[in-house]
Amino acid sequence: MSVTGERALVIGLGKSGIAVCEVLRERHWEVLATDEFPERASAAIAHVASLGVTFVPTEKLQQHLRGGELAVLSPGVPPSSRPVSIAWAMGCTVIGEAELAWRFARAPFLAVTGTKGKSTTSALLAHLLRAAGKKTALGGNIGEPLIREVLPDGLEAIVAELSSFQLESIDRFHARVAVLLNISPDHLDRYASMDEYASAKFRIVENSVAGDTLVANRDDERVWRFARTSAAKISVIDYSLVDPSARIAAIDGRIVDTRAGMELAAVADVPLIGRHNLANAMAALGAALAFGVDPTHFPAALRSFAGMKHRLQPVAEIGGVRYVDDSKATNPESAIAALESFAQPVVAIVGGRAKGTAFDALGDALARHARAVLAIGEATTEIEGALAGRVPSERSATMAQAVRRASELAHAGDVVLLSPACASFDMFRSAEHRGDEFIAAVRALAGGDRA
Ligand code: ADP
Repeated sequence: MSVTGERALVIGLGKSGIAVCEVLRERHWEVLATDEFPERASAAIAHVASLGVTFVPTEKLQQHLRGGELAVLSPGVPPSSRPVSIAWAMGCTVIGEAELAWRFARAPFLAVTGTKGKSTTSALLAHLLRAAGKKTALGGNIGEPLIREVLPDGLEAIVAELSSFQLESIDRFHARVAVLLNISPDHLDRYASMDEYASAKFRIVENSVAGDTLVANRDDERVWRFARTSAAKISVIDYSLVDPSARIAAIDGRIVDTRAGMELAAVADVPLIGRHNLANAMAALGAALAFGVDPTHFPAALRSFAGMKHRLQPVAEIGGVRYVDDSKATNPESAIAALESFAQPVVAIVGGRAKGTAFDALGDALARHARAVLAIGEATTEIEGALAGRVPSERSATMAQAVRRASELAHAGDVVLLSPACASFDMFRSAEHRGDEFIAAVRALAGGDRA
């Protein structure tokens, strides 16, 4: 893939903006960088300056741009922000980090998007490809900036986890296999409507051509409607937990490729908790199949997948009570999926910063599954409202307090579940930090038990 232009403007000096600066400087590009909040980015500014990048404050940007630069946007920067408007006005081509990574890459992409399950599905898909001997890179929303991951020689596949924000800033990006998991209300604080949010996700197949495949969840109405209509030009592999006529279906404890009439794996080979994770596994299998992986690798590869931290991960069992960390459940749908994963009563730790989503369905799921609710963070009142007195609930000021109280309320055989349904930033640095605090509190409990 050729990359034109030798002068770039990097907008936003977070982790991926820094990686873009590094990679472009290694290739002797002239690089300008800007960040609307320079006081927060001072360490990054010093670092990129040492590489020969010129930092330009937003208010001076216009003077420094010649026009025609490639402007590379970090995933966290809204396209409506001031530096982006200036870059547009100066005639720059504005692209995201994922687009730049695609332009540098020499291996085909498998791209995964959806509201929930992206990281799990991307990691599992990379695991399936690697188990089949394919040299595979994994990056994007999942952790390491894509731009760094796509560069090694000899790659055969690149699995890219893409958020709707990253998909907003693609241009020519093209995936040989695109996976659309689900679309549920999230980030409605950034998008004007569900339709606008869904449209960003659907851009994943914008540049697809004949021969490419869209793997689509038939059980998600919006995804399936899109796959059947707009994506007609490419082939579709649909998967379903409930419909045996889907191409990939779960039938009598087996995951089946119904067109080939062939069992791909047993449902029991999927080592993750919950029906939603079975759906994620079916998506990953569909994508690996579309990429030409020999299905005989699938059962053993599935069984050896370790799952991902903070996504329905068992932490400990203390006094017959299982403690499960699902801190990455940052919207109501993922918390509902977590609650529905357990047959036993749950003592649920829920709350945080709401993102403009409704809590009614979560209230109903808690009423069905929870013995008690410990509410934390800013959304406490909203959550209590959704419970409408159907489940006993209490407020906790800290994670340690919530875990301690949960341990008192849980009976042997119950699950204590952290699945907050909200963002973490009111009390924690990140969802990871929130999950780590939960794990530490559970460990403290276990230590206390022994004392
Ligand atoms: P993402 O990368 O899209 O945020 P993750 O794989 O990190 O997704 O999972 C985030 C949270 O969403 C976890 O709590 C997980 O259990 C839950 N989750 C995963 N897949 C689904 C799904 N298909 N439907 C609902 N919730 C899901």
